[in-house]
Amino acid sequence: MLVASASPAVGSPCLPRSPGGGRGRRGGGARFGMIAARSAPVSVAPILKKLQKDCDTPVPVLRHVADAMAADMRGGLAADGGSDLKMILSYVDSLPSGNEKGLFYALDLGGTNFRVLRVQLGGKEDRVLATEFDQVTIPQELMFSTSEELFDFIASGLAKFADKEGGKFHLPTGRKREIGFTFSFPVKQISIDSGILIKWTKGFAVSGTAGKDVVACLNEAMERRGLDMRVSALVNDTVATLAGARYWDNDVMVAVILGTGTNACYVERTDAIPKLNGYVSTSGRTIINTEWGAFSNGLPLTEFDREMDAASINPGEQIYEKTISGMYLGEIVRRALVRMAEEGALFGKSIPDKLLTPFLLRTPDLCSMQKDESDDLQKVGSVLYDVAGVESNLGARKVVVEVCDTIAKRGGRLAGAGIVGILQKMEEDSEGLIFGKRTVVAMDGGLYENYSQYRGYMHGAVTELLGTELSRNVVIEHSKDGSGIGAALLAAANSNYEHDF
Ligand code: ADP
Ligand code: MG
Repeated sequence: MLVASASPAVGSPCLPRSPGGGRGRRGGGARFGMIAARSAPVSVAPILKKLQKDCDTPVPVLRHVADAMAADMRGGLAADGGSDLKMILSYVDSLPSGNEKGLFYALDLGGTNFRVLRVQLGGKEDRVLATEFDQVTIPQELMFSTSEELFDFIASGLAKFADKEGGKFHLPTGRKREIGFTFSFPVKQISIDSGILIKWTKGFAVSGTAGKDVVACLNEAMERRGLDMRVSALVNDTVATLAGARYWDNDVMVAVILGTGTNACYVERTDAIPKLNGYVSTSGRTIINTEWGAFSNGLPLTEFDREMDAASINPGEQIYEKTISGMYLGEIVRRALVRMAEEGALFGKSIPDKLLTPFLLRTPDLCSMQKDESDDLQKVGSVLYDVAGVESNLGARKVVVEVCDTIAKRGGRLAGAGIVGILQKMEEDSEGLIFGKRTVVAMDGGLYENYSQYRGYMHGAVTELLGTELSRNVVIEHSKDGSGIGAALLAAANSNYEHDF
């Protein structure tokens, strides 16, 4: 644990201005793209200490979060608007059996990227005969565009991909290509192949989609493009991940995404869903999409979280997501560093104003800084310099690593508490369903996949909450790209054409 105050950074030479720089927030001292730190700095140590205290997640805090998650799940199942959690019906009542056959497409609109995939399914014995996929980064400007522009872009990517369909893939004549559409934003599902966008999240502010059926939006764009394909299943990414993982393993009961945003879904008994309104599932079970990113009860928050939230496009919303998911961790750290630089002269007498750019520091940057095991934390130094134009000495670098660790630790541990909350709710309703036998939680998302410290903290919290005995049977498994195959499997299960599975 670092306690000493960081000594100011080495005398910084003039650093290049950031693009469009010079918008010094604190007037006065801005010179050469620098902002003056306070003349008589307080030490960095008390700011760091307060941050660590505010982010602390001892077991009682985690337990409260798990209990509140379980209670909010019940509230959301009782009635729409019954709690922060929407607990959305997925209309997915039957999980993949392994018998699915044929050529199916999947399309995934996640946040950072949009992916297309085709898979040739061979049934129980052969399973996945062939897959191909492509990935396109969503241009920043499309996140603030109109619905037509965004969906035209997607349809055009899909058309290019479908054009390249080759030898291993075969569609019987007279059939349309069918798509499982994974759409990772909150949707009020109306049926398995339609759903109304409730709101954009994860920084998207596309006009004209909220309140509309996103499948209709995609269909219209495909028509404009002359692309003859049909969406046969609209699914959330968590639901697709659960289906994809379940294809290989019958013990999968929960799926969690930790990527740009976060969400979770699980298999629920229909008799535990008071708000069903006459909806009948033949299997007696259905997948519930929790939309847990909206959870907010009892989270340990800092002034930096509150400031970030206030400046966000959805203030007061998605508080759990803003505390634990990849889109926000870097920004929370950046805000803490700015405070330490301004009030504690963390980086010497002046601060490059580049550091004042919101969302400049990204979660992968935190990850690469935390991976640095060199004595002089050279990698930390180069990330700070390359990303923010900040010159740092060893003391400052150590502080930066501590800040990253504090934010990653809180995020990972709170994610773990959320998972325990879901398992707890399932076990409370059906004793013996979860605990005491093998239960698999399928995980996916770039944050979980890449940030080993975060992942470790998450696992640690699950073990602390459940105890070693129970947690031994809870398997948290990375289901890499399971959502693509999962969406295709759900398209197969809901195909318009006759099938023998
Ligand atoms: P999406 O959530 O958009 O579907 P992904 O699941 O691929 O996308 O997750 C991408 C997110 O994962 C990024 O926005 C980032 O926050 C996080 N991420 C990616 N790489 C890393 C990394 N090396 N370390 C930490 N987080 C990462
Ligand atoms: Mg995703």
